[in-house]
Amino acid sequence: MSINVEKYNTVSAALQNKAALVAVSKTKPIEDILELYTLGQKDFGENYVQELTEKYEHLPKDIRWHFIGHLQSNKVKYITPFVHLIHGVDSASLLKEINKQAAKHNRIINCLLQLHIATEETKFGLNEAELADLINEMQSGSVMPHIKICGLMGMASFSNDEKLIREEFGNLKKLFDKYAAVQTDNLQLQTLSMGMSSDYKIALQEGSNMVRIGSLLFGERNYNR
Ligand SMILES: *Cc1c(COP(=O)(O)O)cnc(C)c1O
Repeated sequence: MSINVEKYNTVSAALQNKAALVAVSKTKPIEDILELYTLGQKDFGENYVQELTEKYEHLPKDIRWHFIGHLQSNKVKYITPFVHLIHGVDSASLLKEINKQAAKHNRIINCLLQLHIATEETKFGLNEAELADLINEMQSGSVMPHIKICGLMGMASFSNDEKLIREEFGNLKKLFDKYAAVQTDNLQLQTLSMGMSSDYKIALQEGSNMVRIGSLLFGERNYNR
């Protein structure tokens, strides 16, 4: 299996420097990642902590690793030495743990807060009220010097209903704009991570500036490898 260079060029052209591309390499071998890396891709996303740490060890050290899955507090410590951006932060307690582990490595770790925007119940993320609470907490001087909340992330419903997807992304963009003016020492919303292989074009139209694309670049995933 190897990567689809033509698709990579198409996607890169579609982004036109308006959005960053995170190439989602979960379940894909080192060789595929290297192939894309050789073309100039530096941002890669992974969902599983163990897979991420193994790939980190074997690949060039100037790759920026994005953790895009659901992160359990007890696993934070394995990725804090090197992770570039954690997309799926959905609780104050997880933030505290990231801050604690980052302190041990004297790092400041970039985080995105994940919002629950889909109609499906299975997806993780904060609701609007929880987001408001968290931002309030940050504003009222919650002391977490080793984290930086630099944006929001969300996943639309898994659906063919373009109108629904557009609406969900639009709602996330509204929240992003609403809190864009809030600036604290460790909160400044700049990154809006939304859009995957099937819906990234809609996400771009709705204001995304970071897309996470896997299967379009690497081919379909086979979970029974
Ligand atoms: C797997 C995954 C992606 C990429 O999905 P594709 O449909 O393969 O592009 C993006 N974001 C998250 C959070 C994922 O888990």
